[in-house]
Amino acid sequence: MKTITTIAALRTELAQGPRPIGLVPTMGALHTGHLSLVARAASKCPQVVVSVFVNPTQFDDPADLRAYQRDLDSDAALAEDAGATILFAPDAGEMYPEGFATSVTVTGPLTETLEGAQRGAQHFHGVTTVVTKLLNIVAPDVAYFGQKDAQQALVIRRLVTDLNLDVKIEVLPTVRDEDGLALSSRNARLSAADRDKAIMLHAALQAARQAARSSDDPMQLRTAALDTLARAEVEPEYVAIVDPQNLSPVSHVNGAGALVAIAARIGGVRLIDNLVIEPSKET
Ligand code: AMP
Repeated sequence: MKTITTIAALRTELAQGPRPIGLVPTMGALHTGHLSLVARAASKCPQVVVSVFVNPTQFDDPADLRAYQRDLDSDAALAEDAGATILFAPDAGEMYPEGFATSVTVTGPLTETLEGAQRGAQHFHGVTTVVTKLLNIVAPDVAYFGQKDAQQALVIRRLVTDLNLDVKIEVLPTVRDEDGLALSSRNARLSAADRDKAIMLHAALQAARQAARSSDDPMQLRTAALDTLARAEVEPEYVAIVDPQNLSPVSHVNGAGALVAIAARIGGVRLIDNLVIEPSKET
């Protein structure tokens, strides 16, 4: 595996290798969740680019950006083990040289609700701009994303459709620790006590799933999730039961199914998680 830091060198390297090319965009601090995407890409593509770029424009909280874990040597070893052929690790000057003045924005509820409402739509504008740049730089056949960031995956699908980008988007399931906690680079910042609280996000999602077995009413699902969080003294930023395709509120779970999405700040660490409830087969 090669580590490459400039766009020109990356393009030269990719042009010499075979297709298909797979791209796994990340912000580094790689864990088994990221590596599941890399392994999937490697099973399909002879060239697999893992990008590691802590994109400053998508952080709404400067403290979160400062605290974001960076360890390129460890990332390189893990990415290589999982089957990456190139680690692309540009610095901010390479991605946003002086005079940079363009933004790619997906507008409307997809970027303005949930994470967009909490962090500001600017967060997703940062994501869509950097992902567009990465897609143009790498020109992958397939780009891999995690369901852990369900809203982000929808926003990127919208972006790719609307701008006719010639890439297939594959979204892979959330990888969890044994206790259910969704793997996240931010988990390393949780104290032991906070980690115990953090696993309640998953418990709340399970409570919503359980409620969906006996009720089609999204309010019942939301109440079940909120009660679980309240018992653990976790105050969520939001618990939303929405349409898994467009994030609009749902009146029945059994129509299009439902995405249950949760965000909470625990011990100063902001965590998100979600699950999709499929519509019941009987209806
Ligand atoms: P990040 O480095 O947090 O920007 O994440 C890079 C990619 O890895 C995104 O597509 C995430 O959705 C995905 N990802 C992060 N955590 C997980 C996880 N626990 N399971 C699966 N994919 C994940």
